[in-house]
Amino acid sequence: MVRHGENVAVAVSGGKDSLTLLYILNKIFDDNSRGKLMAITVDEGIDGYRDESLQIVKDFCSRLNIENKVLDFRELFGLDMDNAILLRNSPKISSCSICGTFRRRAIDLLSESCGVDVVATAHNLDDHIQSFLINTFSGDIARIGWSYPEPIEYGLHGIKKIKPFISLYEQEIIFYALHQEIPFQSEECPYMHESIRTELRQFLNSLEDSHPGIKYNMYNSVLKISEGLRNQKSVKRSTKCLVCERQSTSEMCSVCQTLQILLKKGNN
Ligand code: SF4
Repeated sequence: MVRHGENVAVAVSGGKDSLTLLYILNKIFDDNSRGKLMAITVDEGIDGYRDESLQIVKDFCSRLNIENKVLDFRELFGLDMDNAILLRNSPKISSCSICGTFRRRAIDLLSESCGVDVVATAHNLDDHIQSFLINTFSGDIARIGWSYPEPIEYGLHGIKKIKPFISLYEQEIIFYALHQEIPFQSEECPYMHESIRTELRQFLNSLEDSHPGIKYNMYNSVLKISEGLRNQKSVKRSTKCLVCERQSTSEMCSVCQTLQILLKKGNN
């Protein structure tokens, strides 16, 4: 996933997965004198939640002697998550979908500004199959085709995105983090229960308890379905957003669409 000499940014939120990924990559970089490793963090502006994780990331990075760059939603989009929740006119756009859309853009911009070659995110197997089900239930077939567990290069800058934990169960990462005494955030996001993800996590875990290995089987099926969809001509190809000119699959990218919906409501 990472070639010798490549500079890598790890998207670190302060949760167990991303801090564990940073910890492991730091060991590999230390041992092999590779390129530069840094941490990038997005501050969504969620009162009472983000402050703890920002501090954990800051402390952990200074312990490992790793540079940490932070970018906040307000600076980038002119509003934070707490504002966005007040501005949306119905819970039809879920908090996590607004947050995820903005966070992906923030990570892209941060990694471009840092001049890295690779961005590593800590998505695990559980995240991947949950996202598959969320997209299936919302009828977003195209998004299933775009979900890449394997490294891909994207955008004008050709930065490579990698997901080193994609075939690992969330529980395995928790065990490792506890064993290595990696600190992680305890506070839950106040908006997390709006998403169907929490219910899917519980459902899939209860299936796994009675049928060990079922999540791994599903993961392998999801890989094949995504690949099959990607090869279909009906899946939209990438173009440019007419507003921000960034890569998009429609005339207006999801970030500009979300901002338009939120700000229109706010001006009414
Ligand atoms: Fe954002 Fe949802 Fe995660 Fe909260 S739970 S930080 S709203 S993606």
